[in-house]
Amino acid sequence: MKTVEIICRNCGADTLLQREAVYDGFTKTGERLCCSACGFEYATEEDVPFKTKKAEPVIFTDADRSAAVEVFDEGESSHLCRYCANYLINPFTQFCSVHKKEVQATDSCPQFQQAEEKEADDSIL
Ligand SMILES: [Zn+2]
Repeated sequence: MKTVEIICRNCGADTLLQREAVYDGFTKTGERLCCSACGFEYATEEDVPFKTKKAEPVIFTDADRSAAVEVFDEGESSHLCRYCANYLINPFTQFCSVHKKEVQATDSCPQFQQAEEKEADDSIL
């Protein structure tokens, strides 16, 4: 059953609207709209005191968001293996020439050395 929040006009409870299908034999003839706290029945949907939803809180303004992205870019990408001079890539693996082990482009390590010219490395491969 679909539930909707209401503030009951009869008992004042912050509760849920109860929808009950009304059948005439096997034919659905309508819906009963009741307060699930006190059982007060609302005649029509328009009578139901729906609890108005508060607007979604705005946590980030656009300015905050772009600032956060810049911080992420500087902090996270600067030490990534893919930007490191010791990062070697071939069709089969990504390899760190310092640690002599397979790495991921998104790995990072304290011995990071900024690659001087990434474009040149790519052209050699
Ligand atoms: Zn009620």
